[in-house]
Amino acid sequence: MGKIENKGGGRPVGYNTSFAEEVFRNVDFGEEIKMCMQCGVCAASCPLSLKMDFSPRKIFTLIRAGKREEVLGSQAIMLCTSCYSCKVRCPRKIPVVDVMHGLANYALRQGFVPRKNTSVFGGEFWRQIYKLGRIDEKDLSRRYFFADGLVPGIKNSLEMMDMGLQMLLHKRMKLLPERPIKGIKALRRMLDKAEQMGKGGARA
Ligand code: SF4
Ligand code: SF4
Repeated sequence: MGKIENKGGGRPVGYNTSFAEEVFRNVDFGEEIKMCMQCGVCAASCPLSLKMDFSPRKIFTLIRAGKREEVLGSQAIMLCTSCYSCKVRCPRKIPVVDVMHGLANYALRQGFVPRKNTSVFGGEFWRQIYKLGRIDEKDLSRRYFFADGLVPGIKNSLEMMDMGLQMLLHKRMKLLPERPIKGIKALRRMLDKAEQMGKGGARA
């Protein structure tokens, strides 16, 4: 526990460093967040920030503020799709995506169970990797948006329509179904092996 000197008078502001130290010790790339200057570029670059409870920038603030339950229970760390936008744009070269995955991994090890929508997303993400060796964005979105039924699905789809159009325009999403990658059988053997070794726990 540490204290920030309050030169402006009134009660001193307390902050808790114990969770940050826990992150530095146990989370892959966790120490990198020391370099974060809170510029918000990662949050602005993240295509999923609208769906996240906390942007990557806020996650790093919460770690510094000692908010263990909020961070490890956050859906944001489970939603990251490894698009790498944050990592390539961070002016401090912080591997944001690696920290997000490190936090997700640590949260699972600590017994934090993802909320239903993140479980749906993670399960579907895994299913597509296993089936195709890549992600079919429109199929993933459809299954994720409609996981709670027709009406929420239509509402979600309308909310995300602009992003879908932009992805089509920028050739980040195709209208035709994706085909499996070359070597999909070898990839499946690898994933099966990883699962047997207890490293494929995200499969749902
Ligand atoms: S872009 Fe980098 S420095 Fe800026 S808030 Fe995100 S992690 Fe921190
Ligand atoms: S890698 Fe993850 S956190 Fe970073 S921009 Fe992409 S989805 Fe967001």
